Amino acid sequence: MGHEGIGKVVEVGDQVSKFKINDKVIISCTTSCGECYYCKKNLQSLCNDGGWILGHNIDGTQADYVRIPYADHSLHKVPENVSEESLLMLSDMLPTGNEVGSLKGKIEKGDTVAIVGSGPIGIAVLLTSQIFEPSAIIMIDVDDERLRVAKEKFGATHTINPATENVQEKINKITSVFAKGEKTGKKPGVDVAIECVGSETTFQTCQNIITPGGRIANVGLHGGPASLALDKLFYENVGITTGVVCGFSTQQLLKNIVNKKLSPEDLVTHRFKFDEIEKAYEVYANAGKNKAIKTFISNDL
Ligand SMILES: [Zn+2]
Repeated sequence: MGHEGIGKVVEVGDQVSKFKINDKVIISCTTSCGECYYCKKNLQSLCNDGGWILGHNIDGTQADYVRIPYADHSLHKVPENVSEESLLMLSDMLPTGNEVGSLKGKIEKGDTVAIVGSGPIGIAVLLTSQIFEPSAIIMIDVDDERLRVAKEKFGATHTINPATENVQEKINKITSVFAKGEKTGKKPGVDVAIECVGSETTFQTCQNIITPGGRIANVGLHGGPASLALDKLFYENVGITTGVVCGFSTQQLLKNIVNKKLSPEDLVTHRFKFDEIEKAYEVYANAGKNKAIKTFISNDL
């Protein structure tokens, strides 16, 4: 189990040239051979001999020791003086939010952005989207506590709870302020809608609130098909993207953390020792009640 982690190198295979024993490393959730067609195109999640295999097709990181195939392309050496909590967010969460959300959504300076789902991945999108300086970031979630945290801690400018508010009306109201519609003729709706749940309902929300010419970036992992309102989106020139994290932006995100442009350590709400891992699972099983975003498990090697 497990596809995220930071660690210390204790043994090095003979094909590895970039790492040595005692190096401290970030383990990317995506394994990349670095040589195949997809790796060369920065589509590492499609790697012919890698992709999402850790904790999926091979033993994962929730163990005392873990073997990382193709280490030269699948690990990142870390600088000193960066918190382990921040580094851990570079395994999966931040690259996912950045690559599948902020980058695929092509967020530009001044854009209005809606993020549907304020869980860990929604927050990762919220953090990375701010690098692109949008004018408004609207978080949408049915959990008031998650909305409060998104606004007070992580920089959301507005929040909407679909359980108690009319999403479309509120989006129209917020975006009309930023679009100055009466002068430019721009229609209400957000420029970028980012789906971070993976359900039919939340994907519909994105389709309902997008402005003509906007982009929908789907980050959420869908368990089944979701319907596409092509009869509407076609005429509105709306772009739709989806995908699995590749990890090509991890180094850049690490630089942003070192330069203090990104501060993801607050995402870690709970810490456990490795022998308390069952307790960590119990806490996360009731994440809402326990106000848990990410749990951090350490074995103090
Ligand atoms: Zn490859």
